[in-house]
Amino acid sequence: MSAPLLTSVIAGRPVAASPASGRYAVTNPATEEPLATVAFASAEQAAEALDAAVAVRDRWAATPVRDRIALVESIANVLEEERESLIATVVAEVGMPRAQAAVQQVGAAIAAVRDAVQDAPELLEPEVIGAARVESVAAGVVVAITPWNYPLYQAALKVAPALVAGCPVVLKPSEVTPQSVLALADAFATARARLSERGILIPGEVLSVVLGDGVIGEQLVSDARVDLVSLTGSTRAGIAVQRAAAAGVTRVSLELGGKSALLVLPGTDLAAAVDYGVARCLVNTGQTCAALTRLIVPRADLDAVERLVSAALARHRVGDPEAETTTLGPLVTRAQRDRVRSYIDAGVAAGARLIRADAGEAADTGDKGDSALPSRGWFVAPVAFSRTAPDMAIVQEEIFGPVLVIQSYEEVGEGIALANGTAYGLAAGVIGPSRETELAVAPRLRAGIVFVGAARPEPRAPFGGVKSSGFGRERGPHGLAEFLVTQSFVAAVEVGA
Ligand code: NAD
Repeated sequence: MSAPLLTSVIAGRPVAASPASGRYAVTNPATEEPLATVAFASAEQAAEALDAAVAVRDRWAATPVRDRIALVESIANVLEEERESLIATVVAEVGMPRAQAAVQQVGAAIAAVRDAVQDAPELLEPEVIGAARVESVAAGVVVAITPWNYPLYQAALKVAPALVAGCPVVLKPSEVTPQSVLALADAFATARARLSERGILIPGEVLSVVLGDGVIGEQLVSDARVDLVSLTGSTRAGIAVQRAAAAGVTRVSLELGGKSALLVLPGTDLAAAVDYGVARCLVNTGQTCAALTRLIVPRADLDAVERLVSAALARHRVGDPEAETTTLGPLVTRAQRDRVRSYIDAGVAAGARLIRADAGEAADTGDKGDSALPSRGWFVAPVAFSRTAPDMAIVQEEIFGPVLVIQSYEEVGEGIALANGTAYGLAAGVIGPSRETELAVAPRLRAGIVFVGAARPEPRAPFGGVKSSGFGRERGPHGLAEFLVTQSFVAAVEVGA
């Protein structure tokens, strides 16, 4: 069977593939088999999607909030019904092991859509300041641009709150993982049909999905009719988007890369800290923006930490994402695999000590190097680097693969400086012998999200970075607020009254 041709969905309707525009072959990263071909939208089609969003902007903002909430709740219900097929799509496109994808990709996406309605009544409530009545109103036409690592979840985190807030959305997902995002457009179509049976008419123009690469993204962002651009992606893309949006004084919300550190304080239970740190580094084969990719430990503990890291790496099983025992799938594309390999080569060339899985614990797969990996697919065995210098590329740059970097310190102050010592500031963690020691350090970490102890992510807490990790916030009430703008209605008060 030939791979299906995927086309953009504009104003609620799939459009014909433009013969002259680009194509992208979507491939299963575990099998290297073709999954689909993406037909990039033409420049005219991208403009049509914006025309539709602009045309419906005022009508959607004036649609009663209960109807907007009904739409988003209905989308959540459809996604729930499609849960199993969505999991299969995400596993095939991203390569994340099935059990993890079920929770962290699809389960999280459905929860994010449901969550978007929760805070609407309170946030949309007007406020009175002096003679002014201050309303939170829809920000206007939104261009949402998303990456490939959690495709459905990242799209849901933007589309659902934007629609609840009253903003029409033009979504431009990564061309690498389009199918799970098109499933959101399908859910929107089904939800519209269901609501129309209840007499609630939702205009198709409120959601378009424009397929393409960064060139199409840049065209959308550069259009001065756009009121808000919400991008999740690399810092490189964030800089380009902010520059392009500046011409139209368009507001931007940027969720960018990270190089997050877990700082282990003196006296910590090292085995537990290393297990937590390695697991939080390797989630989605390291292709997670908030992954804790640097482990910063007291110098006196370095030898013990290296042994523990090697043993922890050995407990991971790399292979078929469909297999129950697999904990690490492939990298998403051949290019990403090659990029990760080149960082590993760079680390070795820079003189850092390469740590592989402890072969003693991993007797079933030999040395756990790349030679033990499946013969097909873009797999890389997880590794760590120790004896690193702070200025090495592997320490400073986002690798987005299964590569942990270990750094060491003499004094806690030096450890904090190392943790803060990259351009990024998305997440950080501190783990110590007591909550008191952790809390003494946590506020000194410059990051948008700080994990205190072996904490799990909190799905409704604001998520976003500082420094080169950007400045947007997603999730929960703060995520909804990103799509609102205040409007002050100042009433004349009689002089002397
Ligand atoms: P990417 O920056 O290459 O692409 C992200 C999206 O931006 C894609 O849809 C792409 O087509 C688009 N894009 C690229 N250049 C553009 C431009 N000039 N104008 C408009 N759009 C443009 O990122 P990726 O490789 O898809 O994803 C990985 C990156 O995303 C990593 O850096 C990761 O840290 C980051 N990320 C951040 C978060 C977060 O919440 N902070 C979450 C997930 C991923």
